[in-house]
Amino acid sequence: MGTELISNLLEIFTAEDPMPFDHPEGDPWKDFRQIMRIEWKMEFTYRHILGKYSKFFIELANKRFFTTECPKCGKVWGIPRPLCADCLTITRWKELPGTGVLSSFSVSYFVPAFMKVETPYVLALVKMDGADTLFTHQLRNFGRVEDIKVGMPVKVAYATEPVSHPMLLMWFEPA
Ligand SMILES: [Zn+2]
Repeated sequence: MGTELISNLLEIFTAEDPMPFDHPEGDPWKDFRQIMRIEWKMEFTYRHILGKYSKFFIELANKRFFTTECPKCGKVWGIPRPLCADCLTITRWKELPGTGVLSSFSVSYFVPAFMKVETPYVLALVKMDGADTLFTHQLRNFGRVEDIKVGMPVKVAYATEPVSHPMLLMWFEPA
């Protein structure tokens, strides 16, 4: 048959019509019901730039937490924004102490395999001291899930081991 040349072939099967219906000429897709399933290992390495947000990550590597402040309306963004979303003014960098209060959180007991993180994975929304909007990141070292409370003080913790993405240079911990 020649299909032995396809080393990653799993199977060839005939697909059923998932929604059979009466058609005057019979199954219009009858010539396309033979289906091949293969195992295809894909691996990609991406190169991307962090653009105007780069300083945020560079300073995380220096164990400093920066965000941006609007020089016109004074709004301090929890997550830095090169442009103030309220008044469209170009912002400036501002260092924050890296402390804050847990505003909300979500507990996930399942994560995609590629994330390679332990569960339960807790995503925290934090009102950073000195910022007007929330910042989202993982909460770690919280002890038991039952001990996580909205309103509890948290702080930014910084990585000391190499990370696979600059975003992993930080996370939140109970303060
Ligand atoms: Zn503004």
